[in-house]
Amino acid sequence: MQANSCGHEWVVELTCQEDESHLDSALIGVLGDLLSVDNFAIYINKHVTLQAPPILINTHSNLTYLEPSQAQLILNKATPSKTRVIHTTDDVTTYIPVNHSDTILGVLIIKTKQLITDRISALAMYILNVYANQLWILHKSRLDPLTGLLNRQTFDKKVMEIVTGNGFLLPREQADTKRCWYLAIVDIDLFKNVNDTFGHVVGDGVIAQVAKLIKNNFRIEDYAFRYGGEEFAIVFQSQTNTDAFNALTRLRQRVASHDFEHIQQLTISIGFLELQSADTVSSIVNQADMALYHSKKTGRNKVTSCHELTLSKEVRISQ
Ligand code: GH3
Ligand code: MG
Ligand code: MG
Repeated sequence: MQANSCGHEWVVELTCQEDESHLDSALIGVLGDLLSVDNFAIYINKHVTLQAPPILINTHSNLTYLEPSQAQLILNKATPSKTRVIHTTDDVTTYIPVNHSDTILGVLIIKTKQLITDRISALAMYILNVYANQLWILHKSRLDPLTGLLNRQTFDKKVMEIVTGNGFLLPREQADTKRCWYLAIVDIDLFKNVNDTFGHVVGDGVIAQVAKLIKNNFRIEDYAFRYGGEEFAIVFQSQTNTDAFNALTRLRQRVASHDFEHIQQLTISIGFLELQSADTVSSIVNQADMALYHSKKTGRNKVTSCHELTLSKEVRISQ
């Protein structure tokens, strides 16, 4: 990348990125060019709109999750739309906010011996705004408009990422609490009746409400997708198959006891399994579907573990 007086080439470099990790790398490259120092760090709330812990992108474009209190301390150092400078006897620290709409999404922290020029800090803020806009566009392109959950297109990519690589490095993982990734497919029971009785507008409202219950029932670092019409996928972490079963049972019970507008009562059926690094996306979904089908066949409003289902079939065959 060539340095340029108005930042035009940097803007092109950022706005042509369609992949978030490439966008992060491009930002690190552009800032490196602009600042001509390595001594900077950037903290961005990668969840964009949620009140979630920001993730540190360091100068090697690695991501690190921060505890909310630690993250808030860092974000508090930024002032909306203004650069803040703190002098010490040894060096100068400049804090440049990453703004999107009226929200501070993050902060760029630069340590130098000398005060950086107004032109450099103005260009850095401009670049960070372009980055935040591009991040927002990428974020929106991953969402289902009715529910705000991640869309079907994002599902395959996320599951592949988890089974093949870095996704298996769990952010909260500690030596004594190893956790695994699970996939659950959730399907609303007898949903056709809702449409037939109350119409599609009410049906859409019910889908949005179930999505909200799913989102509220899982952690910020888990992923909830609208997989199809009235089907959802949840990719989440748990320590054991039993813990995963319990989390999904809690969701099932919450939906069953929720007072839905117009229709009052509704139930869901679920099939789930633990993700293994050798799996393909289609084999994972097939297995979850089989467990879901079992929940439907045995009366609906149920959670079926793929693992348990396979064991029970094996027992029957060996008898
Ligand atoms: P089961 O318990 O076996 O899942 O029964 P079901 O009636 O839910 O199953 P089925 O797959 O036969 O019907 C799903 C219905 O969901 C059919 C379709 O009209 C409806 N549907 C799919 N997408 C949407 C949507 O975006 N909005 C609305 N309102 N309805 C949808
Ligand atoms: Mg269905
Ligand atoms: Mg259904």
